[in-house]
Amino acid sequence: MTKVVKLALINNVTDKNGNKVEYYDLNKCLWDLQKETRDLKNTVIRECWEWYGFSNDYYKLNEEYPAERDHLKREKANGTIKDYSLDGFIYSKYSKKYKLHSGNLCTTLRTASGAFRTSLKDILRGDKSVLSYKADQPLDVQKKCIVLEYDKDTNTYYITLTLLNKTGVKFYDIGDFRFKVTVKDNSTRTILERCYDEIYSISASKLIWNKKKGQWFLNLCYSFDKTETKELDKNKILGVNLGVYYPIYASISGEKDRLAISGDELIEFRNRIEARRNALKKQAAVCGDGRIGHGYKTRMKPVLNISDKIANFRDTFNHKASRKLIDFAVKNDCGIIQLENLKGVTKDTEGFLKNWSFYDLQSKIENKAKERGIKVVYIEPAYTSLRCSKCGYIHKDNHPTREQFICQECGYRTLHDYNASQNIAVKDIDKIIKAELEKMGIKKNKDEEKPEK
Ligand SMILES: [Zn+2]
Repeated sequence: MTKVVKLALINNVTDKNGNKVEYYDLNKCLWDLQKETRDLKNTVIRECWEWYGFSNDYYKLNEEYPAERDHLKREKANGTIKDYSLDGFIYSKYSKKYKLHSGNLCTTLRTASGAFRTSLKDILRGDKSVLSYKADQPLDVQKKCIVLEYDKDTNTYYITLTLLNKTGVKFYDIGDFRFKVTVKDNSTRTILERCYDEIYSISASKLIWNKKKGQWFLNLCYSFDKTETKELDKNKILGVNLGVYYPIYASISGEKDRLAISGDELIEFRNRIEARRNALKKQAAVCGDGRIGHGYKTRMKPVLNISDKIANFRDTFNHKASRKLIDFAVKNDCGIIQLENLKGVTKDTEGFLKNWSFYDLQSKIENKAKERGIKVVYIEPAYTSLRCSKCGYIHKDNHPTREQFICQECGYRTLHDYNASQNIAVKDIDKIIKAELEKMGIKKNKDEEKPEK
């Protein structure tokens, strides 16, 4: 299903060199493109009429209609002759005349020739007048030419549109058009969020000049994914183990297929950041960089900026990771995602993990799951990493190294994160573990037997 949302755009355009483009210059360029769009559409209609006339004459002589490719030929730059469909023929004949981006130009061309074909009967019957396009044409923008960005710090959405071809970029000395989006209500914000999250996919849209308001509007078209409507199995559980080396490790009980999101990117980022942070702290301490005399806050400013960088990185990382997890759940028909309740699991962990907000990852998973109708169930994490998912045996020695899981009872060997996710994927696993412990005669003592996370 495709829908449209009307977005008011505010000038935030810079030229190729990064200098701000004045509103008047921007408008002038876009108005030129409107004229080009109109001219192109009317040219298409003229060419269509010409071909229609030729077809009729041809029919009278040959009692059959001509095939486009047999008659529409043009010489290419290298001297070879190429045959074309009518649309292709028009494109090759006129596209160089315009500054419109080629993809958008194609969309406009196809729209006009399509309109000609669908209205031809009515026109011939006299029910409709011959098509002619007036001024203030909307500019077609194809999917590839629309980029949606979100700036977390200012809570602002930006839309970048590619509207010019190479000649146009040179002529106007402007690159892409970057607009700030005015978000006037929550439903618009939700739509933008979902487009940004790729829950909705953006499709070919139109840029429209509103004379009365003196402003550009983007009629942004977006569509729902087909999988969005897929009914999920309400009893199928995806177990998710959260950690540092694998921020997300997910599997379904008894199934080998798994989703492992590696934390390499995260650890590499941490090392980079910590090195930089230490260097800056030293620098700030000796005050040798001109920031002296402005108080502690000013001197520590670069270090604080690093915190922003970490927050941004975490936000993006968690965003992508949670999206992958939901996609995996949907792909596997899982109506339930089971997570560990990680409140208070910061005791034995290293510094970065402490700062690494699992809460943020969990809430992102929750939000995305909710949108998709997936239930999130929390279980107590105790012993999920020490329990054998094959035989249920619980022992400290089952988890000898960070990566390994080796059951001391049945000998089952696997990756620790996979085994843990297999446990977490079992319904009421915390109650089962409790019963198993009682059977083994181990009293649950959180302080002594706290599993490493
Ligand atoms: Zn076992």
